[in-house]
Amino acid sequence: MTTSLSAALGRLPALVAGGGFAWWFENGQLEKLSPDAAARRARATPPLLVHAKATATRLGIEPFQAYDLLDLFAFVRPARFCLPTPHGLLARINLDAADDEEAVQYLHHAAQILLEDLPRQQPRALRRSMRLAQTLHRAGWPWAIYLLTALGPEATTVPSGGAGGLDIWQELPEWVDYAPPPPPDTQTVSPTEARERLARLLGTTSELRETQADYAATTAQAFAPREMLGMPELVLAEAGTGIGKTLGYIAPASVWAEKNGGTVWLSTYTKNLQRQLDHELDRLFPDPAEKQAKVVVRKGRENYLCLLNLEDATQGGAARPQDLVPLSLIARWAGATRDGDLAGGDFPAWAVDLHGRNRTLGLTDQRGECIHAGCQHYRKCFIERAVRKSRKAEMVIANHALVMIQAAMGEDDSQKPLRYVFDEGHHLFEAADSAFAAHLTGMEGVDLRRWLRGPEGGRRSRARGIANRIGDLVAQDERGKTSLEAVVEAARCLPGEGWLARIAEGNPIGQGETFLAKARQQIFARSPQPDSPYGLECPTKEPINGLIEAAQDFAAGIDRVLEPLNALTKSLGDMLADETAELDTATRSRIEGALRGLLRRKLELDAWRSMLLDLRTETPPTFVDWFGLERIDGRDLDLGLYRHYLDPMQPFAAAVLKPAHGVAITSATLRDIPPAKADAAPEAAWVSAEIRSGARHLPQPARRAAFPSPFDYANRTRVFVVTDVRRDAMDQVAAAYRELFLAAGGGGLGLFTAIFRLRAVQKRILRPLAEAGLPLYAQHVDPLDNATLVDIFRAEEHACLLGTDAMRDGVDVPGASLRLAVFDRVPWPRPDLLHKARKAAFGGQAYDDLLTRLKLKQAYGRLLRRAEDYGVFVVLDAQLPTRLLSAFPASVEVRRVGIREAVAETAAFLHGMRAGTGEQQNLA
Ligand code: SF4
Repeated sequence: MTTSLSAALGRLPALVAGGGFAWWFENGQLEKLSPDAAARRARATPPLLVHAKATATRLGIEPFQAYDLLDLFAFVRPARFCLPTPHGLLARINLDAADDEEAVQYLHHAAQILLEDLPRQQPRALRRSMRLAQTLHRAGWPWAIYLLTALGPEATTVPSGGAGGLDIWQELPEWVDYAPPPPPDTQTVSPTEARERLARLLGTTSELRETQADYAATTAQAFAPREMLGMPELVLAEAGTGIGKTLGYIAPASVWAEKNGGTVWLSTYTKNLQRQLDHELDRLFPDPAEKQAKVVVRKGRENYLCLLNLEDATQGGAARPQDLVPLSLIARWAGATRDGDLAGGDFPAWAVDLHGRNRTLGLTDQRGECIHAGCQHYRKCFIERAVRKSRKAEMVIANHALVMIQAAMGEDDSQKPLRYVFDEGHHLFEAADSAFAAHLTGMEGVDLRRWLRGPEGGRRSRARGIANRIGDLVAQDERGKTSLEAVVEAARCLPGEGWLARIAEGNPIGQGETFLAKARQQIFARSPQPDSPYGLECPTKEPINGLIEAAQDFAAGIDRVLEPLNALTKSLGDMLADETAELDTATRSRIEGALRGLLRRKLELDAWRSMLLDLRTETPPTFVDWFGLERIDGRDLDLGLYRHYLDPMQPFAAAVLKPAHGVAITSATLRDIPPAKADAAPEAAWVSAEIRSGARHLPQPARRAAFPSPFDYANRTRVFVVTDVRRDAMDQVAAAYRELFLAAGGGGLGLFTAIFRLRAVQKRILRPLAEAGLPLYAQHVDPLDNATLVDIFRAEEHACLLGTDAMRDGVDVPGASLRLAVFDRVPWPRPDLLHKARKAAFGGQAYDDLLTRLKLKQAYGRLLRRAEDYGVFVVLDAQLPTRLLSAFPASVEVRRVGIREAVAETAAFLHGMRAGTGEQQNLA
């Protein structure tokens, strides 16, 4: 087998594309080609490569057929991590290449190692692999013939079965249900207990630092019994980088959970941070079995694979050949995954980039179409398993969005969390802003219409309408049945598929589309630049002729949906109450699930109706309303009426803080100190934290504490404001980036205030950096998701990365991989209508300054993640006001210099630090 595989693989060429040139390896010959020459060859002969889409982007062509080793890796090693680059993949199979030139010569060997791994499986998994390989062979997947060869002669004779190996649900275990746990006790956690637990967590390998122990003891106050209804024990704790805040709060949280038999929800901002937090909990539960029982990572339902969607996609030959590859990879992964999380768990994010969202993430329960116990996979369902686990876990690792949506909608969990720790607390404001907003847009309308009516016009879709999902539940109840039919009929008022084109052509159908057509007319009439390639918006005030009438018509249409929807909800509720003795558990839970789904839609429709009717008068002062059109690169995507809370922490405080018994909100950047108040009382610095955490909406003040970072910022960082680069001359900006990145020898993070600026710089510096051996990756350019880009940046010490907002404080890269951060200009807030309203409400220019200082502080904070790190921070904008410089530690001198000096000083400082002479140079 080895010889035949090796011979067959040897006939394939291999390709690695860098920035500005590519390496081609064929028949033992290595060539360096221009992108055009490599593209011509790749189109003529499918090569072996890693990440076909990223390679095509680097060659400047459309994706082409190839033997992508990432697909092979996903098939052979499902649910295993691998960076989607040639070096990343090679490293996973212990083949380290010094550079691209060497990497391209190792690709054949990598393929052979993976293929030889394939037969080493348990007999049952092996037979399923054989069936899948047959399916993929019929679908024409290039790798299939190699899989069949590697699996041996039996692979072609094993019966393929009806589902061709895709029916992985047959092999998944069922979850186990438990009686609901009793409420937790109310025993307190003493500071000593918190300190002792921290010492135990740190063990003998790490030193117990006094500040970290103080932080743990302070956070323990959030676990005291509540004194007053509506007032949680609230602690705001700012912990500078390096304090060790994660273990610091895990310590009291774990003591409380153990002593009281309760669950603590640890919430952070991103899925990536959830993953990091999960790793930290290994210290608390070193035994994997114990951790499995006591810790659960929870995300929204829309993250998990829905087995019914998978079955629907594969059944009766429904899958098209191009869908069979991703479906097979998902089937392989579903048999190996820890928790079924497709979006950020152990399913590779690059598989989404390679095969598209529809064929991967589209298999999650994105629209809330779950039929709960009516589903034949209910007892194996990944989502239901996670929900049940979280009810008896000691620690639930959640994210802010899930916590808020759950609190706002009362979703999923009848047992509301009582104890929270919100890490990355500075993101609570924006998380609440998005969770408590209402968007009456065309896309939202289509979504709801599909949820109610199912696919229309003979469209091929996995969507199931409400009649399909719950029709049988009300079949014997005349009132329920009539209400259901009336809901489905009335939902015709909502926009339907193709709405955007229809309204652009002036042919809207129904009340929803007529209203959106009027909204569009107002947006175009009032926007200063209607032909801008980016989004447009306008106020709702002074509506154009006919808009109010269209809004009222649409509101009346929504009323006609709401009326039978309420009746249907009542019928189902009555069924639960009146038929208690007859209903089996499965039917009860189906009805409860249906009620939750209906309630969520009712809330959405109620909000839309209010927004429409409020157009007749002034917007209520709690809200900010506007019309908006989403447009990217000149392409219109969505439009409609938007409503956000002026202060989203108001609903957050009502729905999350007040019902809780104890909450700790922590971050490295909670406070803001305006320079004008440098000598004011220390409380002044907490004002912004009180506003942005929701604390000011509680009846009593929070406990507050700040723990400064132990890092030596003065000696281990430099901050330069460059004074002679014109920030709007992109050639100058790009040249500055190029020289700074070259001076640093890579390890540079470029932060941009606009996507077009990022792209303008990327295309100018890609080649010169590549020629110097520095790979460049860029958000919005490379077809890779943000988390993957950061993973690559972390792993490749000489790589540089360009990104916009998401990269500013979502990048946790300790060590030399990040040694230079460059902002393209002052990151002022975007001056949109929502910001305008908040600026007026929260202090005018001081509010702009506050947000900008926080952005600078977060970006600067990326440089030092560990005590031994060092780095340079550069802002390419002479107009950075001095009043914003308090974003940096007081001990750090901010120097305004020309670009030549910034480049020279960057090179000298980084060189000195690397050589271990930084302190001496500084003194000199
Ligand atoms: S129970 Fe719901 S989410 Fe789970 S597999 Fe069935 S339909 Fe999908």
